[in-house]
Amino acid sequence: MNHLSIDTDKCVGCGKCARVCMKNNIEVVNKKARETGAGCLECSHCVSSCPKGAISLVPAAESGGLFSSIKKDKMFDGSIISDSDLEKLYQAMGHGKDKYEFFTLSGEELDAFMDTVWDVVKNKEDEIPLVGEWSRWRQENNFLQPNPVLWEGQQMLFIFTDHPDTALRASNRMIVKGLDMGIRGFHSNIVMMAYKMDRNRLLAHFPRSTKEMQMAYVIGHARRLIEPVFRPVTKLKGIFDRL
Ligand code: SF4
Ligand code: SF4
Repeated sequence: MNHLSIDTDKCVGCGKCARVCMKNNIEVVNKKARETGAGCLECSHCVSSCPKGAISLVPAAESGGLFSSIKKDKMFDGSIISDSDLEKLYQAMGHGKDKYEFFTLSGEELDAFMDTVWDVVKNKEDEIPLVGEWSRWRQENNFLQPNPVLWEGQQMLFIFTDHPDTALRASNRMIVKGLDMGIRGFHSNIVMMAYKMDRNRLLAHFPRSTKEMQMAYVIGHARRLIEPVFRPVTKLKGIFDRL
């Protein structure tokens, strides 16, 4: 099952994506990147690191990846991550070092930010399926249906650095610490696309930032899985096989 869509016309075979992949799921053959089939965490590191914008993640529902085995609409339990837990997450990610800036938006700030993102990407409705889905969701005005960009996530964590590789290190630490704290999330390619399209409008929501936005994660507390207690070993084995 493919997890990535790689545009071989854009790919120049630099190998950056392969180097950042913790799963060794990418190799470069004949100067073109391709998946090895080793599995995918859907961390989006390869997407963010590609200088040619050649990689996108196949929508979770189609890829069957680790995180998509739990649908995004069942991902979060609805509770807000407290400031003290966010601080623990930031500390694990390297907070305090000059090279990092971390921000989390929620509530009205996140609403305003997402309105800007929508305004920037809305003309891509016919080109990008997720933007089309978002447009239909907005028109239907049925807020009982999860927002197809945020799902039930109510917070978004942003990593700002001067260089993408530094952001990758912070996000790796975020994933590990998040697992420990019961916090999960997914990377938002739509937000990063909007940032590339109109950086200044998005930056206006981060008046204290001095660096570049490199990664944007929808985050929240993981919904507890209700699994039959007699079959955990099989379930866990499946998960670790894919890791
Ligand atoms: S980072 Fe982009 S251009 Fe470089 S090998 Fe990977 S897909 Fe190709
Ligand atoms: S999303 Fe992450 S795990 Fe999947 S191929 Fe890209 S870098 Fe590797």
